[in-house]
Amino acid sequence: MSLQVYINGHYVPKESASISVFDHGFLFGDGVFEGMRSYGGRVFRLEQHLRRLWDSARSIYLEIPLSREAMAAAVNATLQLNRIDDGYVRLIVTRGQGTLGLDAHLCTQPAVVIITDHIALYPAEFYEQGLEIITASTLRNHPAALNPRIKSLNYLNNILAKIEGHHAGCVEALMLNHKGEVAECTGDNIFLVRAGTLLTPPTDAGILEGITRDAVMELAVAAGVAVREIALTRHDVYVADECFLTGSAAEIIPVVKVDQRPIGDGRPGPITRDLSARFRTLTRGR
Ligand code: PMP
Repeated sequence: MSLQVYINGHYVPKESASISVFDHGFLFGDGVFEGMRSYGGRVFRLEQHLRRLWDSARSIYLEIPLSREAMAAAVNATLQLNRIDDGYVRLIVTRGQGTLGLDAHLCTQPAVVIITDHIALYPAEFYEQGLEIITASTLRNHPAALNPRIKSLNYLNNILAKIEGHHAGCVEALMLNHKGEVAECTGDNIFLVRAGTLLTPPTDAGILEGITRDAVMELAVAAGVAVREIALTRHDVYVADECFLTGSAAEIIPVVKVDQRPIGDGRPGPITRDLSARFRTLTRGR
């Protein structure tokens, strides 16, 4: 059986799953989404993802046409129908069909789509040996223009930076904010380790408040590692002892080179490895 996609309360085979070309999600990237992981058939931190989805929607004046309980049930039902235990879930709410103009109020019914799939992880060697990344020249969206805390369907900002990374032979790229501070990577949050303390940019640096980021900060505190959310510059990255990225899909991935400069001794560091092991236990059990 092919994968079944949830579209507005109905299940449609992957091959014929489609939405209108008049949907403002397609025309303008007008909508919000979540990317989630399931482990053993359960979505990791589903409540938190739904809270963030509802916050994103509220921020763009989008009313989600389901209750949070109904959405959670639809996500779980879609995973079960597709018999996916360890997988990936993409939950999308668009503005819905409208005219070719920008008017959001002419869109009558938001569209809700849930896609589940098997997870396509980065190759294992990236986790063992660590990533090389570059700093993109594309700045992260100014928070006063389009706040990166909104997980909107408009990812062009990140895509442009990712293309720069690709041109440099990297699968991720670091993005700075309008003040020149470290913000995040194109699809992941960033952490540094310096003298045994975990450092990460605060949410007002113009970042997505990652759910993996939250989990990692909790794990660090439980492991006795001090955590500081503090403005960081590229200098802090270059002199860090360790660096890693976090995201629902990537989980925790070490970074060993930034802009051609080795970080620490150029290998995944001990705190990165310890937190990765703790994260595995948290998500998959012992
Ligand atoms: N930043 C950006 C820009 C993202 O798109 C994502 C999600 N892929 C993250 C950070 C990580 O967030 P989470 O841990 O909630 O997946």
